[in-house]
Amino acid sequence: MSFYWAEADEHPGGTVPSALTTAVAPMRLAMRGTDRATPRCVALDGEIGRSVACRIYALRPSPCREFNWHGEQGEPNERCNRARQRHGLPPLPPP
Ligand code: SF4
Repeated sequence: MSFYWAEADEHPGGTVPSALTTAVAPMRLAMRGTDRATPRCVALDGEIGRSVACRIYALRPSPCREFNWHGEQGEPNERCNRARQRHGLPPLPPP
């Protein structure tokens, strides 16, 4: 997902490290690696299916901040299970 370019740290108040972003449209950025057919965010450390973590969690862009993880506030998130399926992982149980 893309986000407004002023979220990048080269702009006043921006937080997202610019070096980890790529322009995808006028005034829109995306995290490098997420604009590929097989997306993998450049800020994601670790091995999918074992242990992963966002290297810039405190600085992440708005689409990441607005994404509810599966089970957050007791609600399921089918997007998590679709992403897991793409990596050959089983779905998460209902929260
Ligand atoms: S939460 Fe972090 S690792 Fe995940 S897409 Fe956002 S910036 Fe990348």
